[in-house]
Amino acid sequence: MPIDPTQPYDDGNIFAKILRKELPCKAVYEDEWALAFHDINPLAPVHILVIPKGSYVSWDDFSEKASDAEIAGLTRAIGKIARDAGLVPQGYRVLANIGLRGGQEVPHLHVHIFGGQPLGPMLAR
Ligand code: 5GP
Repeated sequence: MPIDPTQPYDDGNIFAKILRKELPCKAVYEDEWALAFHDINPLAPVHILVIPKGSYVSWDDFSEKASDAEIAGLTRAIGKIARDAGLVPQGYRVLANIGLRGGQEVPHLHVHIFGGQPLGPMLAR
């Protein structure tokens, strides 16, 4: 069920629990600004989720309210994780779903990194 990105942040969401280490994840990277872990239901050979440490519902919320340091930190983490996973030579995809039409299911901003195979067209027609 897609979330409403205009609602206030709810710290009971599953990624908030992963950030607080109340739930496990298969982490691949962590720094001051971001945590990255394997998606529980991967859609490609490499499917990593990167989330900011701060409490942001969606990309909309993050791009409006996060500090420049938080935005730089998340952006640099995404690039580094993809580079370290060896995805750059063959190429990869970065995706963030926002709200109802985007199909966002978890109300804590997450950026998907997909790779490891040809990823097909950007959107199904
Ligand atoms: P969205 O559709 O919101 O962009 O993507 C949510 C993603 O989170 C989905 O790809 C889903 O498989 C993943 N996901 C949902 N719950 C969990 C969880 O508890 N652990 C992990 N690692 N991934 C999850």
